[in-house]
Amino acid sequence: MKKLIVMMGGQGVGKGTFSNMLVDKYGYRHVETGAMLRSAPADSEIAKTIARGELVSDDMLFGLVADSIGDGDVILDGFPRTISQAKWLIENFADKFDVRVIYLEISQELMIERINKRIREGGGRQDDADTAAVQRRLKTFWDITVPAIDWLRTVSNIKFSVVHPTDSDVNRNFAMVVDALQD
Ligand code: AMP
Repeated sequence: MKKLIVMMGGQGVGKGTFSNMLVDKYGYRHVETGAMLRSAPADSEIAKTIARGELVSDDMLFGLVADSIGDGDVILDGFPRTISQAKWLIENFADKFDVRVIYLEISQELMIERINKRIREGGGRQDDADTAAVQRRLKTFWDITVPAIDWLRTVSNIKFSVVHPTDSDVNRNFAMVVDALQD
C-alpha cells in the first residue's frame, strides 16, 4: 500500500525540514499546503487570510489537497489543521493508503524560540514578521489543531506516533521521525 505521511505540529517544530529530509531519503512527494496557499496573488482572499494569521476555508483546500495526494507516497505538511479536515482526510483516504500520522510535539516556548530564529536567519516568511499574526497562528494551533490531533489519536485504521524533536541536533530529531515510520 502506498504511504500517506501526515506531519503535524505547531509552528517552528520542523515539519518542513523533516519533510524535505524524508523526500531526500525515500523520494516521497512533499505537499505543503502553506506554500501552495502562499503562492496565491497578493490581493486574493487567500493571501489576506494568511496575512491575518487565520485559516483558509475548507472549500478552497479540499480539491487542492485531493489533487496533490494523487496516487500516494506523499507527505502532507500543514494539512489537516482542523477536525473537519482530519475527518475528511480519514474518510476519503484511510482505506486507500497506509496513513502514518507523526505528531511533532514541542512546547509553546520552544515554538516561539524557533520562529524567532527563523526571523533572525531570514526565513523570508512575511507572516512570521507580524507578531499579532504569529500569536493568532499559535492560538489557532492549540485551540483548533490540537483537538484534530487528539481526534486522529483515536482513529483505528491509521498509525499515530508522537515524536519530541527537542534536540538541538536536527539529525538526531530526524532519526526519531524515521524510527516512528518503521513498521
Ligand atoms: P504554514 O506555512 O503551514 O504555516 O501555512 C501558512 C498559512 O496558510 C496558515 O497560517 C493558513 O492561513 C494557511 N493554511 C495552510 N494550511 C492550511 C490548512 N490545512 N487549513 C487552513 N489554512 C491553512
